[in-house]
Amino acid sequence: MGRSNFSLLGLLFLVSSCGGQPKERTGPPILVVGMDGLEWSVLDPLLRQGRLPAFSSLISRGVAGSIRTTQPTFSPVLWTTMATGVGPAEHGIHHFFEASLEGRLLEPSSPLPYSSNCRKVPALWNLAGQEGLDSLSVAWWVSWPAEEVAHGRVVASYAAQAQGNLLWKAGVWTKSLPRLTWPDALEDEVLPYLKRGEPAGPLRAEYNNLFGLVPGKEGWEFPAGRDAFFRFSFHGDRTHYGIMRDQLSREIADLNMVYFGLADVAGHFFWRYRQPGAYRYPIPSEHVEVLGDRIDRAYEVLDGWLAGLLKEVGEDCLVMVVSDHGMHAANLKNPRHPQSGAHEDAPDGVLILAGPGVDPVGTLPFGKRQMGSIFAVAPTVLDWLGVGVPDYMEGKPLRRWMTAMWREANPEVGGKDYRSGFRKPTRPRTPTDGASATFLESMKEIGYVDSEN
Ligand SMILES: [Zn+2]
Repeated sequence: MGRSNFSLLGLLFLVSSCGGQPKERTGPPILVVGMDGLEWSVLDPLLRQGRLPAFSSLISRGVAGSIRTTQPTFSPVLWTTMATGVGPAEHGIHHFFEASLEGRLLEPSSPLPYSSNCRKVPALWNLAGQEGLDSLSVAWWVSWPAEEVAHGRVVASYAAQAQGNLLWKAGVWTKSLPRLTWPDALEDEVLPYLKRGEPAGPLRAEYNNLFGLVPGKEGWEFPAGRDAFFRFSFHGDRTHYGIMRDQLSREIADLNMVYFGLADVAGHFFWRYRQPGAYRYPIPSEHVEVLGDRIDRAYEVLDGWLAGLLKEVGEDCLVMVVSDHGMHAANLKNPRHPQSGAHEDAPDGVLILAGPGVDPVGTLPFGKRQMGSIFAVAPTVLDWLGVGVPDYMEGKPLRRWMTAMWREANPEVGGKDYRSGFRKPTRPRTPTDGASATFLESMKEIGYVDSEN
């Protein structure tokens, strides 16, 4: 290699890594808590019963309503839309696996799960870095391999763990993956949490205490997978909660984001036990007795994690709790379908905004809850950061939920086109040999990929 190549590489490295000069912000930090599949029909009664104190107090100092979503309601697609402000045609993540925009798998027999390098446009953490702001992102979908982010900390997503052997929204690696974190040194702080999250580790007992054990096989026609997937999901989320809280206690960034999948997974597997009357087949009462409260308990667990995160960031923080879609009873005639709660028809999700400058109007009245769409998530975060919203983003910031005083003090500024100069997308990366095949099997098992494919 000639000398000129070497210096060109050096230059490329500088361009890609330095981002904007570090900027001192005067505004409050921002916390975005992504909760997959959070649903008002579950949230509402629990709030009334006083079972969700953290949600309640957050809502009382802000506004809560619903958020429109789009199809397909695949997690990688929607969470990437929220992180980029554009839809799948623009961001390039069309499915769990490499697929056409219409959802046809590019390589049906051995599809590769999307990874962060496939994304065609910058995500919020990239944008913050370009503006000289610091960021923390934990477990956001399609964030493996952890990208090099200026002024950023990234702990890569579930997708990587799934690829790396375990499951959908699930499980944890005890030995880490290549490129699990950015910067690399962050891995040392993350590893103890991964260790604790391993299947036979201490989280096992924590799960058993919270959700109980499913009685042994005798007399029970219960597919063990429903419990196993949920258990792994808990291990994953609980691990990410621990990592997020630890990182916040070390340093609160300008923009802090974390993702939890528990409400969605609980909804998929346990809806029939929570609302047995909705189904056209009988559901044994002893199943309802043991499993009927699991979704509600998952929400209580999420409430506890929300409380912990809010404690770290304090009240002088702009907070957004957002779900990518709601859920409801589904597959009403098929007792064998793994999913008895679903969201393919794109029911509205939940949106809560709170903190300095948010109009404290509380929960919007039923029938008037619509606050915006998932395309407004990235623009709103940028607006809160004091960064102009680029024209290429489809949504507008949700300024109507801010006080008039805040809007006056924080005028909208013009946005830049952050796409120019962003690295080119490349084909999916796989952390280990055979990882994609394992992931594919788990997706078939829960009915997200046609077994006939
Ligand atoms: Zn789901």
